[in-house]
Amino acid sequence: MGTQVAINMASIVLFGPPGAGKGTQAALIMSETGLPQVSTGDMLRAALAEGSALGLEAKKYMDAGLLVPDSVIIGLIEERVKEDDASEGVLFDGFPRTIAQAEALSQIEEVDAVISIEVPDEKIVDRICGRYSCADCGAVYHDTFNPSAEQGICDSCTSTQLKRRADDNEETVRSRLEAYHSQTAPLALWYDERGKLIVVDGDRDISEVGNDILSGMAGFGD
Ligand SMILES: [Zn+2]
Repeated sequence: MGTQVAINMASIVLFGPPGAGKGTQAALIMSETGLPQVSTGDMLRAALAEGSALGLEAKKYMDAGLLVPDSVIIGLIEERVKEDDASEGVLFDGFPRTIAQAEALSQIEEVDAVISIEVPDEKIVDRICGRYSCADCGAVYHDTFNPSAEQGICDSCTSTQLKRRADDNEETVRSRLEAYHSQTAPLALWYDERGKLIVVDGDRDISEVGNDILSGMAGFGD
């Protein structure tokens, strides 16, 4: 990785549509900053497994088929950010999803930078709808990158059982993108108004996107 800057900052929020490579970039941010990743889904599962007070509270809603309210989620985050490994901050993944959550979060944890990985919808549709996976060994292919996948043969195990995932069709991807944009646009604006938004062009090589994220983050902090 070309960018070797000391990054000293509080918590980070990562946005990115499905298929934008968010997981890969989250792993890079974690390895460069040492920040742990915090996902509300993981926290909920852990709280339910422990049977903590907040976990039991969350269970009441889930058993009733209701959404777990923000107060419970924020409570979980408040506990999480007090843990030792979070003393320098955390990387939020999939949170906040609403301005109300962003406002509540701002009361308990300083967010230094919000990174939004942007990729044009058409490119996302191409990326996701061109994906195949091997039913035998799990290898994942893209039909524009892998001529042998296009011919229906797995490079890793020579199986001919290459399949598209059922939810990788264009209609599903477009509706997921629409939901993502309508949810994220107001939040991105909210953070931009507070000088925290870093927009990164995600329509490039993974390493270029990563370098941009790291240099963008280095401009924040302190
Ligand atoms: Zn295979």
